Amino acid sequence: MRFIDEYRNPELILKLSRQIKQEVADRSYRLMEICGGHTHSIYRFGIHELLPQNIELIHGPGCPVCVLPLGKVDEALELVQSNDVIFTAFGDVMRVPGSKQSPFEVKAKGADIRMVYSPTDALKIALEHPDKDVVFFAIGFETTAPSTALTIKQAHDLGVSNFSVFCNHVTVGPPLRSILESEFFDLDGFVGPGHVSTVIGLDPYRFVAEEFSRPIVVSGFEPTDILESILWLVRLINAGAASVENQYVRAVKSEGNLAALAAMDEVFEERPSFEWRGLGYIDSSALRIKDTYIRYDAEVRYKVKQICSPDPEGAICGEVLVGKKKPEDCPLLGVTCSPEYPVGALMVSSEGACSAYYTYVHRRSTRSGSGVS
Ligand code: SF4
Repeated sequence: MRFIDEYRNPELILKLSRQIKQEVADRSYRLMEICGGHTHSIYRFGIHELLPQNIELIHGPGCPVCVLPLGKVDEALELVQSNDVIFTAFGDVMRVPGSKQSPFEVKAKGADIRMVYSPTDALKIALEHPDKDVVFFAIGFETTAPSTALTIKQAHDLGVSNFSVFCNHVTVGPPLRSILESEFFDLDGFVGPGHVSTVIGLDPYRFVAEEFSRPIVVSGFEPTDILESILWLVRLINAGAASVENQYVRAVKSEGNLAALAAMDEVFEERPSFEWRGLGYIDSSALRIKDTYIRYDAEVRYKVKQICSPDPEGAICGEVLVGKKKPEDCPLLGVTCSPEYPVGALMVSSEGACSAYYTYVHRRSTRSGSGVS
């Protein structure tokens, strides 16, 4: 298939793997892949097995569903159960456990919770049901925030009054800074997120190189993309160079998507602080709806009260999310936590590190009887 096969070419993959092995110096390389999409590709294609032992890949907090703390799901479910609304959410969110239940479980008990593919679908439901209030559970990084912004603008332009958004959009720069400032992490470089960079471009990563002297290579998601990005990182680290590079030129422009950024800027403003799973509260790391569009803010309309809920007992979701631990370190993995019966969001999301590990390593190894877990 065009645009797929050439990036999965076995000869190219092995060539890149050999080049990396030839060029690594006698030192360790701790590289964080920020995006959950990269984590899935790495496990799916066995990229970690093609690297020399002195390169360690550490997954970062780039899974949009996983970064939401449990309390945010609880707040959403409290909103649904206390108000006569149609609540809409992306499919990934439907099975994310709150502290007591998931949206699917609340739906099974009779709540009107519907899966949508976009915020526009939610607005369409509002137009079709003028007698009901419709709420969209907005999550995600700058990748999805523009479509939420444009939908709010559209609702505003159409004068729709029965639609609102429970806004939980987050931004990628502040958690990255938080990781770089943390004494725990001793990282040598970053595989930069591809999807979000199509919107924000390269500038928001400059501080990684300029303030923290670490290289970052924005990468595509296919095996040759990731291996090439790792090769570039090895070269930059060997040369003691810190810069922001763009391997994903077929999708990412240096300046990003100006129309998308303008839509976000018109509708959203920074929140003073936002709670992240595994990272705690981070200043200016999330978006809220500006006063101009406040009638579409479900938090204000339904007076949503903040709920703080700890991760389930024994679960290490927060530590896995930010790369302090690996999925295989969790005692619940494959025991009480699986994609069918998830304990944490990381096992549900298509970008979650635990679902990637479970699907491509744990399940295969238990099927083949190797007993690796
Ligand atoms: S295996 Fe389940 S409980 Fe453990 S860290 Fe992953 S999602 Fe959380």
